[in-house]
Amino acid sequence: MNIIIIGAGPSGMVAAIKAKNENNRVILIEKNDRIGKKLLATGNGRCNYTNLKLSTKNYSNGNFVKETLDEFNNDDLINFFKFLGLESTTDGDRVYPITLKANTVLNILMYWLESKGVEIMTSTEVKSFEKIKNKFLVHTNNKDLECDKLVCAFGASSMPASGSDGTAFKILKEHGIKVTDLYPALTQLKLDSKYLKHLSGTKVIGEAKLIRDGKIIDRRRGDLLFTNYGISGPPILDLSVNARKNDIIEIPLINNVDKNIKEMLYSRFYIFPDFSVKDFLIGIVDKKFIHYIVDALGLDKNSAMSALNIKDFDRIVDLLLQSKFKVIGNTGFKNSQVTRGGVSLDEVNSFDYSSKKIKDLYIIGEALDIDGDCGGYNLHFAIASGYRLGAKFSG
Ligand SMILES: Cc1cc2nc3c(=O)[nH]c(=O)nc-3n(C[C@H](O)[C@H](O)[C@H](O)COP(=O)(O)OP(=O)(O)OC[C@H]3O[C@@H](n4cnc5c(N)ncnc54)[C@H](O)[C@@H]3O)c2cc1C
Repeated sequence: MNIIIIGAGPSGMVAAIKAKNENNRVILIEKNDRIGKKLLATGNGRCNYTNLKLSTKNYSNGNFVKETLDEFNNDDLINFFKFLGLESTTDGDRVYPITLKANTVLNILMYWLESKGVEIMTSTEVKSFEKIKNKFLVHTNNKDLECDKLVCAFGASSMPASGSDGTAFKILKEHGIKVTDLYPALTQLKLDSKYLKHLSGTKVIGEAKLIRDGKIIDRRRGDLLFTNYGISGPPILDLSVNARKNDIIEIPLINNVDKNIKEMLYSRFYIFPDFSVKDFLIGIVDKKFIHYIVDALGLDKNSAMSALNIKDFDRIVDLLLQSKFKVIGNTGFKNSQVTRGGVSLDEVNSFDYSSKKIKDLYIIGEALDIDGDCGGYNLHFAIASGYRLGAKFSG
């Protein structure tokens, strides 16, 4: 059987490795001049490929993902990589290659693609396809190719510089296959605040809340980082999936806030009457937050704590525990890690990712309308879908 896979990202590479055997000719087509470009950028160059806490709850369309996770969970992925010769390590619940280098993952996958005899065509862009009887005729910028099974593993729109720029969806749309609206997800948020330049680079560990019309929409914990345009960090990337313009991001300015925090703050108010406001704050927050707090509240940083009335102190506590910033946008597809939206799941069977409309056509990985949280969930789905489909082809 002849199999063509469009896109040499993690889903396409793994599908190719699993599908290739003595009966199957597998051609992996990549429009870049090299394969796995985006993979090298993942996890800050460390490639966080799965998570010890893997659940359908971590995905936008958990029902569709369930069969994939039931058949290929985090242990299966770790063991699959072990079988290929790649050892894993963890940082919290996040799983990485033991080298903490994304290029190790790519090198291992390239070794197996080559040793199994997968034919790789780089600098080749698939433009369209035709179905002629039981065969596909695939048109590329170089030449036309024929196959029995056609796999779309061409990703979506995030990080267009990696090759996944969303243009490939038209190949399917031309055949009447529905693609949902696409939005950047797992991206930094732009905030409306005159203090951003000053706060840029300041980090705090805590829970960020996404608030709309006074209601909490979502809340996530972890490292929060101010930038000169807004805010970043894993919890923000997760919140960005649902964030809209004019929503509010609420964060603490004190690290690891716990239930005793108010007691601690109010007792300090009485213990240190001779401290200036600045001295009071310096023992509890990053120095850069002090200017923001006193300026935003119109206080004098040199005035003594004893000169503050309790209402002013309540306002300080409020900012320390729930600083609010208005969202004015996100940093777009260019900086997003994943795309919300893709090939409509109504078009695809969840047991083997086959098209319901066109026989022998398959869609895997991020091209589908599935996105996961930050933490290894997106690579897990890309790899797992490639594995399951490739295994089906090799029997
Ligand atoms: C900066 C960054 C960091 C990330 N970090 C993580 C992380 O640590 N953990 C995690 O789980 N996820 C992470 N992700 C998300 C993860 O990389 C993607 O979910 C995953 O790569 C999707 O795999 P894929 O194979 O479906 O598609 P892609 O990796 O997007 O690969 C698709 C390939 O198809 C090619 N292609 C497109 N159109 C055509 C065409 N017409 N003809 C030929 N080839 C074509 C593209 O050039 C590309 O190489 C990160 C993403 C980014 C951008």
